[in-house]
Amino acid sequence: MTVRERKTGTQKRGFLSLIALLIFSTVVGCNQSNTNQGTNSEQSPQAQEAASNPIVPSEKTKVVTTFLPIYLFTQAVAGDAADVAILVPPGTEVHDYQATPDNVKAIATANVLVKNGLGLEEFLEGTVKNAQNSNLTEIDASKGIKPLNEISPIETTTTEKKDHDHAHTEGNPHVWLDPVLAKQQVTNIRDGLIAADPRNKTIYEANAAAYIQQLETLNSEFQQTLQKTPNCTFITFHDAYPYLAQRYNIKQVAVVEIPEDQLSPADVQNAVNTVKKYKVKALFSEPGVDNKLLKSLSQDLNLNLRTLDSLETGETNPQYYFQAMKANLQTLQTACQ
Ligand SMILES: [Zn+2]
Repeated sequence: MTVRERKTGTQKRGFLSLIALLIFSTVVGCNQSNTNQGTNSEQSPQAQEAASNPIVPSEKTKVVTTFLPIYLFTQAVAGDAADVAILVPPGTEVHDYQATPDNVKAIATANVLVKNGLGLEEFLEGTVKNAQNSNLTEIDASKGIKPLNEISPIETTTTEKKDHDHAHTEGNPHVWLDPVLAKQQVTNIRDGLIAADPRNKTIYEANAAAYIQQLETLNSEFQQTLQKTPNCTFITFHDAYPYLAQRYNIKQVAVVEIPEDQLSPADVQNAVNTVKKYKVKALFSEPGVDNKLLKSLSQDLNLNLRTLDSLETGETNPQYYFQAMKANLQTLQTACQ
């Protein structure tokens, strides 16, 4: 990605070709002069050593990440300096994900594991244990972030809130949807990668700084746009936006906690009651969710049904975060007008 990396890569390849050439001529030399006794014992010490150490480029740090946003942030920071993989394939639901044997293998051979934390990746618990990798460094991207706990925050009283602060210590995990908290996650990932792989410190620092700069620009765009529609209230069927709502002074009422294929009649009734209770501007569904019940509900309530992207699935290019978040901002702006 950077000039420095490309240069190192070229030098490494040149060096390896030279070694390969030397070994090749040594082996050919042996075979030619000792046609009848061409055994291993006749090879030069260098050739024997090369045979027991197959020629591979000095290995990059192997990083596994849990799901899309964490993959995007980690890939942005790592650039080409580390190999970054993802455990939960995009298109698969993270909230009730079941680990596969391949996941265990990936963790067993990794140097670093990066997770969102805040209790989102329940599948990791047994998986990390099964992988038995005592050299694994774990990075909790949400380290130091104070979680929000409530589903439907404006539906609850202050006393209930206090109780809940103690009950759910891990809180709502969707911190990546607030650009300011995303900055904190990128910083945590950067520091974790530097600790695990100090050789590439300058690369991680430069890549993280560039991404954080983009997050700051995104934050300003959200601020400038949404300050025109304070307290705009919207209903979601996935409790994914409390951090974003709090940051920009708008209000999410989450009717269900995680995305569901089929809403229950109780969910629908809950949505109807909420619309009656608050001046609701919009109903938000998720990309790829085609819920007939939601559509007829929005028609009955005379509200537009729009799509907000929680980024739990999508494209694997680190720039996808900005693309999807800017689309979310446009959707919110239109809905809140
Ligand atoms: Zn979610």
